[in-house]
Amino acid sequence: MGTTGLHGRPELKVGDVLTSEDNALQAVRRRHELRVLETLVAHGKRTRRQLETDTKLSRTTLSAIVGELRQRGVLMENEQLLHTTGRHGRPTKVLSLNPGAGAAIGIELGRRRISVSVLGFDGSTVTSECRDIATAAGLETKVKDAADMVQSLINRGLIKPETVIGTGVGIASRHADPKSLADGIEQQLDPKGASLSPLRELLPAPLLWDNNIRLAAMAYGKDSEDLLYVVLSAGISSAVVTNGVLLRGGSGIAGELGHLSVDFAGPACWCGRNGCLESFINENNVLLEAARRGHAFASIADLAQAAADGNDIAKGIVDWSGELLARAIGSACVLLDPSRVVIAGELSQFGEPLLAPVRTALAGQHLELGPRSTTITNATFSPTTGSDGAARMALNHWALTTIN
Ligand SMILES: [Zn+2]
Repeated sequence: MGTTGLHGRPELKVGDVLTSEDNALQAVRRRHELRVLETLVAHGKRTRRQLETDTKLSRTTLSAIVGELRQRGVLMENEQLLHTTGRHGRPTKVLSLNPGAGAAIGIELGRRRISVSVLGFDGSTVTSECRDIATAAGLETKVKDAADMVQSLINRGLIKPETVIGTGVGIASRHADPKSLADGIEQQLDPKGASLSPLRELLPAPLLWDNNIRLAAMAYGKDSEDLLYVVLSAGISSAVVTNGVLLRGGSGIAGELGHLSVDFAGPACWCGRNGCLESFINENNVLLEAARRGHAFASIADLAQAAADGNDIAKGIVDWSGELLARAIGSACVLLDPSRVVIAGELSQFGEPLLAPVRTALAGQHLELGPRSTTITNATFSPTTGSDGAARMALNHWALTTIN
């Protein structure tokens, strides 16, 4: 590996001897360092004593790590009056992260574009960039392109590899095996067809990858939010965030709303079920349905515009889509009780009329506590949503694995 990790150059004390074990020692120290950083990401401010409890590191080890992180400007130590820990009104020293000193990196290897986002420890966006690519580009090429973009951000000082606590990578149509994401695994297995090593070499912090649409959902979910994210395009992709964490399930495909049946007597779906939502409301079939009803539209955008202009067939198609969507989302909400539903993708151009039947269906659902308070909105489009979410997943993942 050409880099030395978050730890940067190890500060050897007098009497230390350089041996072949130095790399191993350095790796251990970096893990300890990450534990301290993760705790601070999760809690914001911590006293040294709290950090000792959180990280289970010895006072000596912690002291050395805190000393060096302060020296590098990653940590700040300020005196504060804390009600719980201050004695006799004396201020207590509290450690916190310097928001500008560290970052989580998110990368989306999408179908048509690659984007990179850099988020500060506090979740604020430091920078984000994207680049359009040829739709036929293979995964290996995309990884290489993304590595070029990361290298350029490093060259411009917008990414400082030694301060990166984690990287998230979203990959179009690839799903990570949840077992390969289990805590304690040194390195997640690469997706089929490409090695992510070029990115690992540039960003020497833990790297996790998952499906890009799923990671995009993380861009909408706040830390502890329960969210259902649905993308209506050529097919349907969706993701569930529960308590701020991406729901993966046993085989990495949890939350596939497109394969909830909305009509058990409906057409057979490739997945083996009948009347799946995706069989009805995908871009192609929606245009076909309009043609069957007597009006051929060139695109979803045209259909959406015609509906807005009052064309009866177009309006009928939007209502029909909304009714089917409402059946699936109504069922999903019984199971998941999300606080938010966010709709994205081509069909979200239908706007509020698509959401109206869903709102009605949810308003009519009375379980124990009365009508649902779930909000449902269209996504605001940004070309870096996928990488923003990937970076947020990286931030959350390490914060959460620390707490547990
Ligand atoms: Zn299906």
